[in-house]
Amino acid sequence: MTDMDERLPATIEQPWHDLVATARRTVREGLVVGTSGNVSVRVGGLVLVTPSGVPYDRLEARDAVAVDLEGRQVLGTLTPTSELPMHLAIYRATPASAVVHTHAVHATAVSTLVPELPLVHYMAAALGGPVRTAPYATYGSRELADHVLAALRDRSGCLLRNHGTVTYGDTLDQAYDRTAQLEWMCRLWLTASAVPGREPSLLSEEQLGEVAEKLRGYGRRA
Ligand code: 13P
Ligand code: ZN
Repeated sequence: MTDMDERLPATIEQPWHDLVATARRTVREGLVVGTSGNVSVRVGGLVLVTPSGVPYDRLEARDAVAVDLEGRQVLGTLTPTSELPMHLAIYRATPASAVVHTHAVHATAVSTLVPELPLVHYMAAALGGPVRTAPYATYGSRELADHVLAALRDRSGCLLRNHGTVTYGDTLDQAYDRTAQLEWMCRLWLTASAVPGREPSLLSEEQLGEVAEKLRGYGRRA
């Protein structure tokens, strides 16, 4: 194969590079182990996805995998992530431009305990409100994709029972940051609820609503 053959179409080159960087970050920052988890980014009518079962540090330009919104493979020879039904369901039903799925340990622990993450911290507002746990279904199944879509209603992230997390955003960085915040909040709840004889105090929906309003202007120049 010549160098020319390995060049990606210009519109895909940067998004693929960013997708691989995000997938590697999930491993580096301890949100997944090995080839667990998957990442996707939308480029117009195409969705770039991580291939199934390939270590992220091995991914190169020639490994790029793209599908259309119906799931037909339009680029690459590696098999798209097994969670393609979930990623595509999210793109079809939400304004997502990027999706991150991990098996982050504290979030996955919480997914085995509660149907919704208790409101221990105001950053739940950054995900649209109290984060739900989608009921369990086999990884990669249509059923899991349906459960996830229901759990994501008015939210940009949810837990997958006995499995992990999924978040989406306008960019890969935003989707990744939401996963990191979700994992942090789960760790916080587990830490506070592990104190013997004590229960963590919780925020009200009203208090969260005030934060949601305030966050709309957060980080913007005055
Ligand atoms: P893939 O390697 O097929 O992306 O699967 C990993 C995973 O997390 C399945 O839920
Ligand atoms: Zn998974």
